[in-house]
Amino acid sequence: MRELDEKEIRDSFINCSKGEAGRIKLPAGFADGAVPWDDIDFLGWTDPGAPQRALLVVPGEEKPAGIVLRRPEAVKVSAMRSSMCRICLTDHASSGVGLFVAPLAGPAGRRGNTVGEYICSDLACSLYLRGKRQPKMRLVRREETLTLQERIDRAMTNLAAFTDRVAAG
Ligand SMILES: [Zn+2]
Repeated sequence: MRELDEKEIRDSFINCSKGEAGRIKLPAGFADGAVPWDDIDFLGWTDPGAPQRALLVVPGEEKPAGIVLRRPEAVKVSAMRSSMCRICLTDHASSGVGLFVAPLAGPAGRRGNTVGEYICSDLACSLYLRGKRQPKMRLVRREETLTLQERIDRAMTNLAAFTDRVAAG
């Protein structure tokens, strides 16, 4: 994706207040060029200052859309069960996928309404798709016949569907 600057990222959030967007901490190493822009289709990270808060910034036609997410409390899960990220469709041991919950945009969100999605716990879907990161203890391996670009397109379609649900409020 195109490299974004701090202002573009802070201005992109659609489901939190301006004050909250201003307090979000950017990914570790952001200012030092640690974000692998060439290898990612969207920016996803855990707030270094608030580990229960995760952020997604998705490129858009005109401007990027940022989503604030809550990471669930760790729940007891069987390490033997496998789970699939609903964005990139990578299979993980169940700890590799988490249910991320986003407040809806606007008044509905302020009333406490949310939507959730199962996403790679480290939000690194782009790296899994490219084989630059491997799931831990993967139990199931599905052979994909799609090309990398087709799998990226599918992930971005899934992600757009999620951000649209948030934006619809
Ligand atoms: Zn994923």
